[in-house]
Amino acid sequence: TLSDRLTATFKNLRGKGRLSDEDIDATAREIRVALLEADVALPVVKDFIAAVKERARGAEVSQALNPAQQVIQIVNDELVRILGGETRRLRFAKQPPTVIMLAGLQGAGKTTLAGKLAMWLKSQGKQPLLVAADLQRPNAVTQLQVVGERAGVAVWAPEPGNGVGDPVAVARSSIEHATSKLYDVVVVDTAGRLGVDEEMMRQAADIRDAVKPDETLFVVDAMIGQDAVTTATAFLEGVGFDGVVLTKLDGDARGGAALSVASVTGRPVMFASAGEKLTDFDVFHPERMASRILDLGDMLTLIEQAQKAFDADQAEEMARKLSAKGGKDFTFDDFLQQMQAIKKMGSFKSLLGMLPGAGQMREALESFDERELDRVQAIVHSMTPAERDNPKIINGSRRARIARGSGRQVSEVNQLIERFFMAREMMSQAARGKLGGLGNMPGM
Ligand code: GDP
Ligand code: MG
Repeated sequence: TLSDRLTATFKNLRGKGRLSDEDIDATAREIRVALLEADVALPVVKDFIAAVKERARGAEVSQALNPAQQVIQIVNDELVRILGGETRRLRFAKQPPTVIMLAGLQGAGKTTLAGKLAMWLKSQGKQPLLVAADLQRPNAVTQLQVVGERAGVAVWAPEPGNGVGDPVAVARSSIEHATSKLYDVVVVDTAGRLGVDEEMMRQAADIRDAVKPDETLFVVDAMIGQDAVTTATAFLEGVGFDGVVLTKLDGDARGGAALSVASVTGRPVMFASAGEKLTDFDVFHPERMASRILDLGDMLTLIEQAQKAFDADQAEEMARKLSAKGGKDFTFDDFLQQMQAIKKMGSFKSLLGMLPGAGQMREALESFDERELDRVQAIVHSMTPAERDNPKIINGSRRARIARGSGRQVSEVNQLIERFFMAREMMSQAARGKLGGLGNMPGM
């Protein structure tokens, strides 16, 4: 997976404090492979990588993230932005009915989507009407009628009087019908061909002119990969559309089509369809698709947690205290703060799986007892401010008092104080660059 490959890249990047051009290039190469593997179209990959590199070069050096993590975060942000950023909601017309037109190739999933949309709209308190404006295939009308029945919504089909054999007439008459019968959303299902052709485009454009849709949705099969770009471009020119609906996401497609289409057309992905059942349908979430494309779920969680746990100013202050005067300015309060920062990062054990290159630390971390933090906290809280600032003054009688106050044994207090001095010594050496290793991990 991409995570595995990035782990290798991370190895070279660990220990570096800033984003060099080589760092950015190395990470960009990995991301490029990931995007191509996710079936994102090559020109889109090129543009995308160029944009990411530019942003990465201008990025400020982050205290919380190492360079590779920082680039990944930029990549993720850019993906989310291209996919539509904030979830784009359907716009309903001020004057009902709201008209939604579905366009796309044959087999893309338009008719199925019509049923899913109808059911979803019904659950939002709307009264949808489905319109069978696909008269291309012999059984297309029946298919929509079956779907409508399953969704429990009305279907407007060609009959003498509302246009037999003429999809434009059927579509036009459906609007009058909806207006007089108070249906508030009209979903127009149209015909598609296996490939893009002029006649089909003209018919779709004629239907568009007849119904004046509030939203035209381009429906695309997530599995078609690279072809999505040509198809989307043709539909954008021939019919125009406001949003994209991705279907068949239940397949093993990595979602590259979504990025390609959104990127090339500048239209947001609005809905996702993931199955043949009418309920396998949801509003599209750009962040989820970005993780799917990058296959970086765990890595992104880690990045988020690291950022939350890490306060850059606080860390700078710690580093300063640790590197000066052999670390003597580092107090028990600082010690506690560091432990709390680590605690904020979540359970150590869950972090283990996410950390690239955590191998050597694994054993030590696995024996870490989370309740230890609470015990340490109790002991430190029983110290006076003077004792926390200057632990050297904590003599025997003070230790006995602290033990009583925290409900712990004197031996535990002794142990903690000993550990404090040891940790301070080690961190102070690390801060002065004498030890390799943990330097890049926040809270360490
Ligand atoms: P249309 O030609 O664009 O109207 O496409 P259809 O709605 O007839 O769908 C074509 C085929 O894809 C049908 O067999 C559907 O059951 C299937 N299909 C549609 N959406 C999905 C989906 O999200 N997941 C899966 N697995 N199949 C789907
Ligand atoms: Mg159809």
